[in-house]
Amino acid sequence: MMSKIIDGKVVAKKVLAECGQEIESLKAAGVTPGLAVVLVGNDPASMVYVASKVRKCAELGLHSRKIELPEDATHQEVLDVVLALNADTSIHGILVQSPPPPQIDEGAIVRAIDPAKDVDGFHPENVAKLALEDASGFVPCTPAGCMRLLKDAGVETSGAEAVVIGRSMIVGKPMALLLMSKEGNATVTVAHSRTKDLAAVCRRADIIVAAIGMPGFVTADMVKEGAAVIDVGINRVEDSSAKRGYRLVGDVAYDEVAPKCSAITPVPGGVGPMTIAMLISNTIKAAKQSHE
Ligand code: NAD
Repeated sequence: MMSKIIDGKVVAKKVLAECGQEIESLKAAGVTPGLAVVLVGNDPASMVYVASKVRKCAELGLHSRKIELPEDATHQEVLDVVLALNADTSIHGILVQSPPPPQIDEGAIVRAIDPAKDVDGFHPENVAKLALEDASGFVPCTPAGCMRLLKDAGVETSGAEAVVIGRSMIVGKPMALLLMSKEGNATVTVAHSRTKDLAAVCRRADIIVAAIGMPGFVTADMVKEGAAVIDVGINRVEDSSAKRGYRLVGDVAYDEVAPKCSAITPVPGGVGPMTIAMLISNTIKAAKQSHE
């Protein structure tokens, strides 16, 4: 089977072009959407993510603030930054880059963010709104991006058997909620580390979403002929031929799985670019809602 490669860069560009139009009309009404990104410590991957979020804001003419705190910042210091941002009317979206250093209680920080500015969609109020299908909430960016990829690729979710591998609050759980919502209408199974005979569970799936964090975990024997596969995983594997000494691979053994699929996302260039596009989209939504 010739599988369709879902190009996340192309779809992200489309989403950002839609955002560009919205930014223009908000600016014409006197509102410049603003995003604040809080980075605590010097985790190399987090630094890269934060830099690319801020860069994207600048490209699109959004107001952005990067607040960097040292590795040994106290919980109270991070909390104070969040509370100040809650009160800052030029800021519509706040995100605290995960994972913070261990002395920070990440859950408490997330709960301190004003839910109306929680563009990551991790605050309990937004989690509840997702479960309640209340459209005023913020949907976590990565699963929202996966849904958009499925839609743009013409993958029918309604009535489909979907298997989500992974049950994290960032990807797996919200992804399952979106697929089973009235918008997704899929029959959803959430698999995780204790799932028995995962291969058999996956073989039932018309749609597989892999969010595990293990390189090449989903192999060809786990995939039904004609399934659509969304690979959320971002894993570094050593590669001496690469300039940086490593390359990025997904959770899916792409080379052996792709020939069996109707559609598949590559890594890199699949889900990754969508996450940032949906973050921008959420920030615009926050700005709009704050001025309604
Ligand atoms: P996580 O570690 O919080 O969750 C991993 C999940 O995998 C868990 O729910 C666990 O039960 C499940 N799991 C572990 N071992 C398993 C096994 N043997 N069989 C079945 N399930 C198993 O990770 P996460 O934050 O959800 O991220 C998952 C992956 O997605 C990571 O590679 C991460 O880097 C990537 N990610 C990518 C983006 C993006 O923008 N593309 C965003 C977030 C996360």
